[in-house]
Formats: sequence, structure tokens, C-alpha cells
Amino acid sequence: MSEEYKLLIGGKWVDGEGKIEVKNKYNNQKIGTVPLTDRKLYEKAIESAQDGFHLLSKLPSYKRSEILEKASSLIEKNQENLTKIIAQEAGKPVKFSLAEVKRAVQTFKFASEQAKQIHGETVPMDAALGGEKRIGFFMRFPVGVIGAISPFNFPLNLVAHKLAPAIACGNSVVLKPATLTPLTALKLGELLLEAGLSEGALNIIVGPGSTVGNWLVTDQRIQMITFTGSPPVGKEIKQKSGLKKVTLELGNNSPCIIDKSCVLNLTISRCVVGSFAYSGQVCISIQRIYVHKDIFDKFASDFLEKTKNLKIGDPQDENTDIGPMITEGEAMRAEEWVEEAVKDGAKILIGGERVGSVYYPTVLTDVKPEMKVVRLEIFAPVVSLISFDDFSDAVRMADDSIYGLQAGIFTKDINKAFEAVKGIKVGGVIINDIPTYRADQMPYGGVKESGIGREGLKYAIEEMTDIKMVVINLPE
Ligand code: NAP
Repeated sequence: MSEEYKLLIGGKWVDGEGKIEVKNKYNNQKIGTVPLTDRKLYEKAIESAQDGFHLLSKLPSYKRSEILEKASSLIEKNQENLTKIIAQEAGKPVKFSLAEVKRAVQTFKFASEQAKQIHGETVPMDAALGGEKRIGFFMRFPVGVIGAISPFNFPLNLVAHKLAPAIACGNSVVLKPATLTPLTALKLGELLLEAGLSEGALNIIVGPGSTVGNWLVTDQRIQMITFTGSPPVGKEIKQKSGLKKVTLELGNNSPCIIDKSCVLNLTISRCVVGSFAYSGQVCISIQRIYVHKDIFDKFASDFLEKTKNLKIGDPQDENTDIGPMITEGEAMRAEEWVEEAVKDGAKILIGGERVGSVYYPTVLTDVKPEMKVVRLEIFAPVVSLISFDDFSDAVRMADDSIYGLQAGIFTKDINKAFEAVKGIKVGGVIINDIPTYRADQMPYGGVKESGIGREGLKYAIEEMTDIKMVVINLPE
């Protein structure tokens, strides 16, 4: 059944002239229509966010905390409906959709706790010549109106990672979710209004990144852009955003190193999840697995066995492991990259097939560092197995990337673990688990082409506030 959605502007649900159809990504049926934001609606959203900022930034932190706590409970209460919308609009298997909803419950809960912990610190002014009679401290203030632009792959929890910290520190937001998956964000907007969020503090507009997204990025009335999405769009945003604050959460081609001392069974099960969950459309999906040569054959045969057992089908079926990719075009792109690699000498151990928008879990070997499947972010269920002899070589190969989001190391040897921590330039190293691991309170973000800034409530709040220094001169 298809539902008519509206945009959220100034605390009201607003219709527009153009319409965008949102489809179920598995069967292509229409599940909703959303108004397309035109310039007039956009202007209203910005004006409303400016008003919303004045309201929200004046609320005491315990009230902002209460709103966030209530939002967390409402997400939990609406778990079933939100799970269904994610599974349909993102084509995400229902078990992963449910996990996303449960994480969003926590994200808002962490934000409600952090809202009460925003503070500055004192500065020892007498450390400077002439500072003997001065007292100094800084405070944190919300930046103002934030433009939030989110991707398709976590339409609830990645929106939560922008809205929850923004509200916690008193900023208003104009959110533009991905055009392919805007429905979950609009449902979340409903819940935030029900939780008591001030009118205009959250405005949700929908339309193509190249127009509506670009309006946000280039608008002087917006003080900060928080963006999650692909590296090319991230670079464009940085170039066009002028002097605004910008946080960019971008892509990766995550490496995972398997030392011969690891607990093999557990390692293989986790690597299968990390490579293929949500068809590899996760920014920290495993793309490169470096396996010690002594255990390579055993690792490869057990990995293939477990991959064979993954159930492909309708995301709404509880047993489904692999659903469709977000579009058929994306599945075709993955297919092309694999075919190109095979032409250049790679071997397909399993997979390499496509049926419409479903790309089968694919394991490659005999890959070369310059192949796209290794060098770029494939964002599809494709992983390469690469053998190594010397652990230091594996660290060097894992680090050999234009990206730097997270890496995983499986080893019982603490020295090797720390060699990897020191040697791989990334935002996070996960020891004895996959690079795909993320908890919502931890600092999360990348270096190099994986982005700038950190999310994770406390750290996002630091990005979303400005420091104001106060110096008091004590006269004689
Ligand atoms: P995308 O194509 O970059 O789109 C992300 C968002 O940006 C969408 O809302 C999109 O709008 C908008 N957009 C596109 N062009 C724009 C422009 N010129 N100006 C302003 N906004 C623009 O990314 P995606 O395909 O949705 O998501 C996949 C990517 O996100 C992958 O690279 C993945 O690694 C990355 N990601 C990173 C993280 C992280 O935390 N580091 C988490 C999840 C995903 P439209 O929908 O209208 O195109």
C-alpha cells in the first residue's frame, strides 16, 4: 500500500507541487510519494529553521535531554513500523533493519545523556606574561542552523547521528535525506514532534542532491553542513561550502588482517557478516581480507562454505541474508568492476552473478592492488582474499589505500595488534573483530578520503558547537 507523505516545515506537514515516488527496492512497487522541494518551500524551511534555532537554543539542557529521551522511547515503541519501512525503501533484510532501529533507540538515548554534559573548561590565564590578574574559561554554544545531508544505506540511524547531537546542543536542522530513502526520516520527524521538539527546530525537505542538496551547501544562512555519503560528493561539498563548518563521513575499502594465531571459526563467521551484510552497502564493509599463508586454504574453504549458505531473497523475509542492491544500476556497476578484475587476472571463487538488482555474494582471489575492486570502494557484496607471509607486509598492504575509516585485525599477539594500530592510518582499528563494528557512542569517522570530523554523540556535539572564550580582568 502506498502512503502520501509531506515535508516537515515549521512544525507543519507541507505539500508541494512536484512528487517523488518511493519504491520497494525488491519488487519495485510504489510504497510512498513525497513532495519535491522547490525553491519556495526551501526558503520556508530555512526561515523556519532560523526561528526554530531561537526557540531550541533557549531551552535549558534538561528539557532538550527530555525531548531526546522521549524520542528514544517513541522509536522503540514504533520499532515494527520503522523496521518495515527501512526493509522496503532501502531493500535492507529485516534482521539488519531491526538492528538499525535498535541502534537508533540507543543513539537518541546517548544524546539525551550528553545534552546534560555540554561544558567548557577553565584556562590558566596566569601562564602568560601579564595574565596574573585574569581569569579565563570557555563555554560551548550551538553553531546555529545545520544543513544535514544523509545517504540511503542507514536511513534511520545515520539521520539519528545528525539530528540527535544537533538537538542535544541546541541547533536547528534542515535535513535532506537520500531521495531513494526519504520515508524513514519523515517518520522520525513525526516522532520528534510527538516528543515535543520545538516548531522549526527540525525541517525535512526532499529532492535531488544536485539541486536541493546544493542549495543547502551554498546557503550563507547555514552555519554548518553535516554530510554522510560518497567521497566524490563529499569533496564537492567541501569545495562549495565556503567558510561553513563541515563534517564529512565518507566511504572506505575496509581491510581486515587475519593472523595465523586467530580463533579461526569465530573469525570466519564474523568476516562473512562484515563482507556481505546488507549486500556490502555499508561504509565499513570488508572489502580486502589479508590472510596468513599458513591458514589461507582453510580460511578460504570455510569462508566459501559459509557464503554458500547465505539466503538470498525478499528483505521482508526474516531468514533473508542478501536482498537487492539499492538500484539495478549499482548492481551492474559492481558486476562491471568484477568482470574488469577477472579480465586482468582475478579469479572468482564464488558469485559473480547478477539477477536484476540482486548481486550474488562474490569472493575473489588473485587480485592486484591497482584493480578497482581493491583500490576503490565497491559498496557491493564483493570481497577479495589476499595471502601474506610477513605480518608487517599485511599492515603495509592494509594501509595502502586512499581511504582511512576503519580496519580490523584478528590476532592473539598483542604486539602485532599494536603494530597494526600504529601502522594503518584510519579513524578506528578493531582488534579481534571486523572493521564493520561500530557502537554509537564511540568517536567514529575517517582520515584521508574517508572524511573530516567525528560522529558519536559527544564528538558530534563538539563539532556542532563553537567555543567562546571569556576572560575576566580583576581590577586592583
Ligand atoms: P551519495 O550519492 O554521496 O549521496 C548522499 C547524499 O548526498 C544524498 O542525500 C544525496 O542526494 C546527496 N547529494 C548528492 N549529490 C549532492 C551534491 N552535489 N550536493 C549536496 N548533496 C548531494 O551517497 P549514497 O550513495 O547515498 O551513500 C553511499 C556512500 O555513503 C558510500 O560511499 C558510503 O561509504 C558512504 N557512507 C559513509 C558513512 C560514514 O559514516 N562514513 C556511512 C554510510 C555511508 P540524492 O539522494 O538526491 O542523490
